[in-house]
Amino acid sequence: MVKLTFYGGVKEIGGNKILMQDNDTKIFLDFGMSFGRRGKFFEEFLNPRSANGIGDFLELNLIPNIDGVYREDLLKHQGRKPEPPDVQAVLLSHAHADHANYISFLHKDIPIHCGETCKYILDAVQEQTNRNIENEVIDYKKRPIFKKNYRDPAIERTFNTFRTGDKIKIDDLEIEPIHVDHSVPGAYGFIIHTSKGPIIYTGDLRVHGRHSHLTDDFIEKSLEEKPIAMITEGTRIDTGKTNESEEKVYDKCKKSLESNKKLSIVDFNFKDVDRFTTFFNIAKALDRKIVISFKHACFLERYHKDKRLKAPDSRDENIQIFKPKRLTGTYIDEDYSDKYIKKRLNYPNVKTAEEIRKKPEEYIIVLNFWYLNSLIDLKPDRGMYIHSLSEPFNEEMEISYERMVSWIMHFNMNFVQSHCSGHISGFDLKELIKKVKPKTLFPVHTEKPHMFKKIVTDVKMVKEGLSYKI
Ligand SMILES: [Zn+2]
Ligand SMILES: [Zn+2]
Repeated sequence: MVKLTFYGGVKEIGGNKILMQDNDTKIFLDFGMSFGRRGKFFEEFLNPRSANGIGDFLELNLIPNIDGVYREDLLKHQGRKPEPPDVQAVLLSHAHADHANYISFLHKDIPIHCGETCKYILDAVQEQTNRNIENEVIDYKKRPIFKKNYRDPAIERTFNTFRTGDKIKIDDLEIEPIHVDHSVPGAYGFIIHTSKGPIIYTGDLRVHGRHSHLTDDFIEKSLEEKPIAMITEGTRIDTGKTNESEEKVYDKCKKSLESNKKLSIVDFNFKDVDRFTTFFNIAKALDRKIVISFKHACFLERYHKDKRLKAPDSRDENIQIFKPKRLTGTYIDEDYSDKYIKKRLNYPNVKTAEEIRKKPEEYIIVLNFWYLNSLIDLKPDRGMYIHSLSEPFNEEMEISYERMVSWIMHFNMNFVQSHCSGHISGFDLKELIKKVKPKTLFPVHTEKPHMFKKIVTDVKMVKEGLSYKI
């Protein structure tokens, strides 16, 4: 008997937590954070309390209340008996938080299987954030932490990394990870050979990106298998044919930046190495240097380790690292207490706002929303701001967007919007499903599952927490 239970990603974009049971074997497909659900209760300064361990998360249904998956220390902290793990593995499709972050709650003896690059990114995630219960993806400190235990060593999780061509064996289940193209490197779809037949899980994917051939490999392999079921993402099921590509982003941004002889600011998601490459190449073509943050350097150094990504090292001659003002505002070493900054403070390519301001036309600065206050030091008067992210699609994002606009207006900057999505369009997804022809379709990671009706005969409108036999 094969059974699927959906604990997240149901009528929401992200938060995938899908339990697959084949006879006595249980695995989770992703174990991500649901931004929507979290945002219903929390915002910037109202957060779940690490001090209450797993308690706040269970109370508000941010994680499912199930046995045999959670950390022993967290259960004990809640006055519950620790339970031996009842799940044999977690497969991560990729390193976006809505798929990966809540492995931080899982029992240390549940092994995490993910792509090699996905592991690199998780390392960077943990390196540049303060340790809290939602991002201890690599290792964790036993809770509750008493002052006397601060220095206790962290408890390590087990990671098994794979690449396309590898086969993962978990009891009688055989799983083939196959690369797909998405807005983060190291993204995979899975073909899971169950006792009832092959089941496909897409993770997140697209066919219009710079590496769409990866997704083609996945589609090719999936259709050969004649799958009995397919669990598919459906973020953009409501979109028709689109005409977007990374090349278009390159062309538009290059043209805009070329015409701008003053300071240039761009914002994009740093997990998106394709977008980094786009701006890195533009900077080189225009004989400028790209300026990144210390946080970005943590990611870039990991990407550089994966030779296939052809990403430069953070000390590359075309890269500068922006040194923000901290504590005294005088840039002395003592001002920086974060480990990830301290470690890189002596890099030869670290630059302050004052140094950049001397020759603003020589730089393209990557500045994230949370660091917009650095504009006061950079003084980008009548410069350019490129927003290379998706446009706001919920109320909270609208509010942040308004704030960003205020900054741009204050400094009289020219605004440019240019982005291409990490997700497949509705039109392309329907084509993909028709090609693969699964007997049963389970749409997840979508707010509009009803739009999948009629693509194949049997489409399940998944309900959270319910199990579906295959
Ligand atoms: Zn996602
Ligand atoms: Zn994703």
